[in-house]
Amino acid sequence: MTKSKKNQKCFCFSNLKKKNKNTELFYEYYSAPPLEPNYNIKYYKRKIMKCKFCGHFTAKHKIKVNEFYKKNYSIIAHGKNMIKKFRKINSLKSKSDNHHRVKRILSYFRNYKKKDINLLDVGSGLSIFLYELKKKVNWKLTGLEPDINFVRFAKKIKVNVIHSNLKSNIFKKEKFNIISMNKIIEHVKEPVKLLKISKKLLIQNGYVYIEVPDGYTASKHKKGKFREEFFVDHLHVFTRRSLKKCIELAGLKLLNLKSIKEKSGKYTLFAFAKKAA
Ligand SMILES: [Zn+2]
Repeated sequence: MTKSKKNQKCFCFSNLKKKNKNTELFYEYYSAPPLEPNYNIKYYKRKIMKCKFCGHFTAKHKIKVNEFYKKNYSIIAHGKNMIKKFRKINSLKSKSDNHHRVKRILSYFRNYKKKDINLLDVGSGLSIFLYELKKKVNWKLTGLEPDINFVRFAKKIKVNVIHSNLKSNIFKKEKFNIISMNKIIEHVKEPVKLLKISKKLLIQNGYVYIEVPDGYTASKHKKGKFREEFFVDHLHVFTRRSLKKCIELAGLKLLNLKSIKEKSGKYTLFAFAKKAA
């Protein structure tokens, strides 16, 4: 944890290390919330700290969350039968979060529908987003996914997914018009860093689409503490202010940011941003 301690700074530059001055203890957990997937955590103890300036929530604990994604996240989060889960989500059609995500993105990029677009989806998971997008546009679609089970699954449904992550620097020459990150940056210690890497992979005037859990709205809910926005795999839970700041610190130009309640009940913030000259 010594390494992460020096990064205990909020995006709004208030220093979380100055004890209790700029940050307050918001939630404290000694056992997993009832609906949290079972990650087999031995000593369950964690805190959620809240920045007094921008409202951003930061997780504080010693649980090795990064280990989750290497092999078994797919199985723990989605069960062993991925095809079953995939079919279930697909059958939801307009009741699925993904349906509305695809709609949102295609509506935003309506002028690009017939153009040659190169899109990268970071952390493509079950590939539902790319699978749906593929039906609607002729874009070049690529997924990036660290979990081999998800990569194998993508092959089965004929979606192009590479087994890697953004940090591995695998795209030496390829640039993208659009990079999507659906519920990804809340899982990493340094979201700004991840956005900076994405920026490098964009063409000039290329776009990023970002979705994150909306901590502000979730925290107002009477069961806020136990909601999935605050589950253990989220190292950051955002507010409008903190997401905006995060995007700006990565050197991207924010174009649109909204708070929504998804069909699944999740409170989500989404943003479109641009790599402007
Ligand atoms: Zn802050």
